[in-house]
Amino acid sequence: MATMEKNIIPVREGDFNLADYEKTAKDFKWEDAEREFDWYTTGKVNIAHEAVDRHADSYRKNKVALYYRDANRSEAYTYDQMKRMTNKAANVLKANSTLEKGDRLFIFMPRSPELYFALLGGLKLGTIVGPLFEAFMEGAVYDRLDDSEAKAIITTPELLDRVPADRLPKLEKIFVVGENVEETDKIVDFNKRMKEASHHFETVWLDKEDGSVLHYTSGSTGRPKGVMHVQYAMVQQLQTARWVLDLKEEDIYWCTADPGWVTGTAYGIFGPMLNGATSLILGGRFRTEDWYQAIEDYGVTVWYSAPTAFRMLMGAGNALINEYDLSTLRHVLSVGEPLNPEVVKWGLEVFDRRIHDTWWMTETGGHMICNYGSMPIKPGSMGKAVPGIEAAIVDDRGNVLPPNSMGNLALRKGWPAMMRKIWNNLEKYDSYFIGDWYVSGDSAYMDEDGYFWFQGRVDDVIMTSGERVGPFEVESKLLEHPAIVEAGVIGKPDPVRGEIIKAFVALHEGYEPTDELKEDIRQFVKKGLAAHAAPREIEFKDKLPKTRSGKIMRRVLKAWELDLPTGDLSTMED
Ligand code: ATP
Ligand code: MG
Repeated sequence: MATMEKNIIPVREGDFNLADYEKTAKDFKWEDAEREFDWYTTGKVNIAHEAVDRHADSYRKNKVALYYRDANRSEAYTYDQMKRMTNKAANVLKANSTLEKGDRLFIFMPRSPELYFALLGGLKLGTIVGPLFEAFMEGAVYDRLDDSEAKAIITTPELLDRVPADRLPKLEKIFVVGENVEETDKIVDFNKRMKEASHHFETVWLDKEDGSVLHYTSGSTGRPKGVMHVQYAMVQQLQTARWVLDLKEEDIYWCTADPGWVTGTAYGIFGPMLNGATSLILGGRFRTEDWYQAIEDYGVTVWYSAPTAFRMLMGAGNALINEYDLSTLRHVLSVGEPLNPEVVKWGLEVFDRRIHDTWWMTETGGHMICNYGSMPIKPGSMGKAVPGIEAAIVDDRGNVLPPNSMGNLALRKGWPAMMRKIWNNLEKYDSYFIGDWYVSGDSAYMDEDGYFWFQGRVDDVIMTSGERVGPFEVESKLLEHPAIVEAGVIGKPDPVRGEIIKAFVALHEGYEPTDELKEDIRQFVKKGLAAHAAPREIEFKDKLPKTRSGKIMRRVLKAWELDLPTGDLSTMED
């Protein structure tokens, strides 16, 4: 079903500079991007060195690397200060534990400058860092530390109760970031030790293929997988941050993702810092007003967020936007979930900016299919494969399908940031590959121009009366209805039709959940998309179940609907 809107939004003034991009993308090979790193000449590899010290030792020494703001703090750190603070953190970790190269160190705390010092400090020490969302409960923390045999964790006094140290025999130390922490055999007062620590540290040198971060996936489709990335991912993160995020020397870049999600490290830390850019980090919870205020106060120019956030901002109404000066924004991007054309339309209307969709996964470690450079945007499409990446639609045996056929979205294996293993699960790792193809688990088609159109997770594609329907198209149509702010669509088994389409929808304020409205919504999809795509059942919800990274959990909707076990809920929002 290829009925998605195909309007093209052309390049606009102030958009990416085509000449810049073409210079580097022509005949591009990933090796071309290696030259910039110190290790290219020294042979000594460490991603934290390249992200921090390389700039601290250059003309960027006094350039701001990080702005941080929450309700209580407002701080700025230059690259030089970042070098000192991450050195201190590395010293604290080293002096108070037996942590060494390759050991797993977890970070379990809300966003704060200390999180970034600790994460980069852990990398300087050569450990593999596993960032966790602060909202995880004890079970989720236990599973991840147990699975990866973590040696240490960094957390806060508020979260300490959720670290079941007595059940984790391999866990040697708990570094607590707080005021007057009481130290024990196991517990170290991180801030106190930071004050005493030297700001000189001899970075531990690694191999390109040594581990860097261990990210557990979002848990949208099942039990999260421990995805290990290596140092070499930096090559792709550096280059894609240039092509896709379009980072330039003078930019103020804001990635709204928490480091508990791969976006919050790959493009919340590495992409910008490898490029010597200035980032804003906003702590605390989402509030529409705070977000717009931050863009105005810091003069944010490049903004990377997610559909769920854009939909929340949309839901808050456009009147609010006029109260802020958002004119500095020049490049806006989205990731994590399908970006509905309705949201792209809204972005043009209110920010006068095209929202650039980007598709990639925890497992890919970096951007894969994106609206990059200055390419024209087709709303509803994820864009094209970035240079250096070969993407295709394949069938279940790995045969490449012709344009406009729905199938498995696949990538030719071997790109720099590709995961190198699933922790403790070789079988799972192997199951991603058919021959030379990495098969993503997403269903999509590619059009004649090489644009990819997301249809849904392979398991979520609905077969109704012999038609294959991607939930995304139905959800996007539903979002165009004036009453609907969010929608999740599933297939529900039906003896006659195979499956029927069931939609769960949340309404904008002021709309009543009536039977007439249901009928109106049904007609709306029928007329706007196709009769067979109209949901036979509609259920109103105050909100939809989502992961911490903001993804609608369709498997949970399905389990609720069919009275099945809900499976792993460790990553679900409250
Ligand atoms: P799990 O693997 O544990 O089920 P997850 O797949 O949601 O969770 P992530 O690695 O965070 O974990 O997300 C990757 C997935 O997110 C992709 O496979 C895809 O389904 C979805 N996704 C990411 N970006 C986009 C996008 N731009 N458009 C559509 N879907 C996207
Ligand atoms: Mg996944």
